[in-house]
Amino acid sequence: MNELSRPALSVVAPCYNEQDVLPEFLRRVGAVLDSAGGGAEIVLVDDGSRDRTWEVMTAAAAADSRIVAVRLMRNHGHQLALTAGLSVCRGERILIIDADLQDPPELLPDMMALMDGVDGKGGADVVYGQRRQRDGESLFKRASAAAFYRLINKLTDVDIPTDAGDFRLVSRRVLDLLLAMPERHRFIRGMVAWIGGRQVPLLYDRHARAAGESKYPLSKMIRFAADAITAFSVVPLMASMTIGWVMAAVGFAFFVYSIIGWLMHANLPGWTSIMAALGLLGGMQFLMLGIIGAYLGRLYDQSKGRPLFMIRDIVGGPK
Ligand code: UDP
Ligand code: MG
Repeated sequence: MNELSRPALSVVAPCYNEQDVLPEFLRRVGAVLDSAGGGAEIVLVDDGSRDRTWEVMTAAAAADSRIVAVRLMRNHGHQLALTAGLSVCRGERILIIDADLQDPPELLPDMMALMDGVDGKGGADVVYGQRRQRDGESLFKRASAAAFYRLINKLTDVDIPTDAGDFRLVSRRVLDLLLAMPERHRFIRGMVAWIGGRQVPLLYDRHARAAGESKYPLSKMIRFAADAITAFSVVPLMASMTIGWVMAAVGFAFFVYSIIGWLMHANLPGWTSIMAALGLLGGMQFLMLGIIGAYLGRLYDQSKGRPLFMIRDIVGGPK
């Protein structure tokens, strides 16, 4: 790809059955891009929609040369649809946004300013939208989201910002690192947080969906949470190690207790051998599961194939 031909900005939006919001979304994004100036493209990904989303997209692409429409073979889910768009886009900076207008595209100039660096402060690699308030979301959704972020930040050693979705502006450098992570189960906001660099929040009010309905029913939310936790933490796997030690200790204590009972002739005939074997074997089994868990955790980490380190700057050396 010719580096010189990169547009300054790519707007990437995954769309699943969004025929009702797309025209309004494109109108608002288009207006923002018009006033911002500079080269820009809008990458729309049709994630196997069953309504007329694709027709709306192709018509829009025919009318506006900034629009690139990408259609997936089938529904892959939000995170993979987004990944598809991110790998197609070519911009120097990339705005990740939902198509349902819950995230206002009008925040783009503020995000750009934060990335440029204002008030003498250095620029940012990532500017993420952080929700000040959530309109039109049920108490349950808000409570479950809060609990989820508390849990994941306890279980992992990456700081994943609370109350932030995927709405963010990222630099090409961060995007290239993100795309270099080959893992299949992608929890993009966590992966971006894991990359590090200078990441700054921009507070905003999240609005209710402009039209259509949420594509995230509870079942998908649970799967999303499980993906997120297993992608960033081997703590659940390692838990079997802790349980293993406890059970091995209990099992051994039971073994000793039944042998002492036998020596004191306090046991029914047959009870000692059964209970001693049960305690010893049970304890050992849990311990072995823990050991397997420890190796599996390392194997899993290795198989994710993430970069070992990411260099931010190098200063000095031969001229
Ligand atoms: N989305 C997608 N594929 C899916 C589900 C959702 O591309 O399988 C898109 C959807 O069109 C929207 C974004 O992902 O642009 C966020 O989805 P949604 O608004 O339904 O989620 P919520 O905001 O309710 O969490
Ligand atoms: Mg939404």
